[in-house]
Amino acid sequence: METRIGFGYDSHVFKKGVPLHLGGLLIDHPDGLAGHSDGDLLLHAITDALLGAVAAGDIGCYFPPSDPRWKDADSAIFLGKAVEVLQHSGYRIINIDTTLILAAPKIGPIAGKMRAHVADLLALGTDQVSIKAKTPEGLKLDHVAQCHAVVLVERVIDPEELKSMSAVIENQSQIEEVVDDLLSSVPALPK
Ligand SMILES: [Zn+2]
Repeated sequence: METRIGFGYDSHVFKKGVPLHLGGLLIDHPDGLAGHSDGDLLLHAITDALLGAVAAGDIGCYFPPSDPRWKDADSAIFLGKAVEVLQHSGYRIINIDTTLILAAPKIGPIAGKMRAHVADLLALGTDQVSIKAKTPEGLKLDHVAQCHAVVLVERVIDPEELKSMSAVIENQSQIEEVVDDLLSSVPALPK
């Protein structure tokens, strides 16, 4: 089994009066996270971890903040793209582990719901997704949220298998060409 590891990190500043999106959920809290998209740093960190696992760049390569299309965008779109890139590279997710670092809100009471939602977005079981949280005690970082994510992926499609599959298709079209030539050279045979 060929496995690879991916790591992602993100941080956003808290901002008064904007909705707080975390793990694809809308959380009841007076402050949200500032950002060009919906500011969902948990999904951003996982997106970067997935892309990193197959060395396919980072979130900014696919969704540049300079592009007005991604203003207030649902971060589930970014996550979906990373899953697509991962699958096209021939890999699937084994598990994801994350740590949020933020002073508030308390993550413990909502972690279960958040795990279930992130697992749903990734078509995984809840036991494959871990969401933990810490407070930035004594670091004077109460105005900031940070997130770290690691993902383990395994290869499901052998690159040699992909190559030999396309070789077969090539051969088939060559055979058809030869048959067509033969048939056209025999006038009595109906095509
Ligand atoms: Zn972000």
